[in-house]
Amino acid sequence: MALRHDQGIVLRGYPFGEADRVVVLLSPNHGKLRAVAKGIRKTKSRFGGRLEPFTHVDLLLYEGRNLDTITQVSVVEPFPHLRLDLDRVVAAGTMVEAIDAVAQEGEASHRLFLLLQRGLRALEAGPAQADLVSAFLLKLAEVLGLAPALVACAECGSTSDIHRFSLASGGVVCTRCSPDRGVKLRDGLTDYLAALASADLGKLPPDSSEFSGEAMGITRRFVEYHLERRLESLSVFDG
Ligand SMILES: [Zn+2]
Repeated sequence: MALRHDQGIVLRGYPFGEADRVVVLLSPNHGKLRAVAKGIRKTKSRFGGRLEPFTHVDLLLYEGRNLDTITQVSVVEPFPHLRLDLDRVVAAGTMVEAIDAVAQEGEASHRLFLLLQRGLRALEAGPAQADLVSAFLLKLAEVLGLAPALVACAECGSTSDIHRFSLASGGVVCTRCSPDRGVKLRDGLTDYLAALASADLGKLPPDSSEFSGEAMGITRRFVEYHLERRLESLSVFDG
């Protein structure tokens, strides 16, 4: 059997057979990667906690016919602090869930990998906040080629009277194009969304603004609409 190296951020895992687990990772070189960790569910597993979600690991793999088997794991970046409070775990879970929904197996995904790494680093360094998750999802949409129009009407390109957001049109729309389509945006919200879309994830202002809740609502609906699936972990931000 051939051995090969790979690396990735652990997205999730699921039980496999009696004592094994399939670990799902995002590899920059191979996209979504599934590999078997043998014996990991035994009390004295040699893998310890190194294959928990969010951990960036370096792997030595035996290539199998269907699934590769993990023979060695070393931790590249453990992200210990983001696991310390539930809000950060939930925010990291949302990032991982969204990445899991869009990553393809066997397809290089450097931009997705870097985005997830930046998102987790921002959570490692500071508190969970709605703006960080919103900015992450807007950047994810951009990587996927689905970035919403936020500075000009998605239909005609006009930059005036853009006061509504239409999921179907793909962003803000002017009153001339769509007088009654989509949701009405409060003054300032369009600019706020545009600022989030271009923000550095590691340098967001610490305090959430009055627009944070609405920005999250619109971003979430937009991403769910275009991915055609709900992001379950985001429901904790409801209410
Ligand atoms: Zn228009």
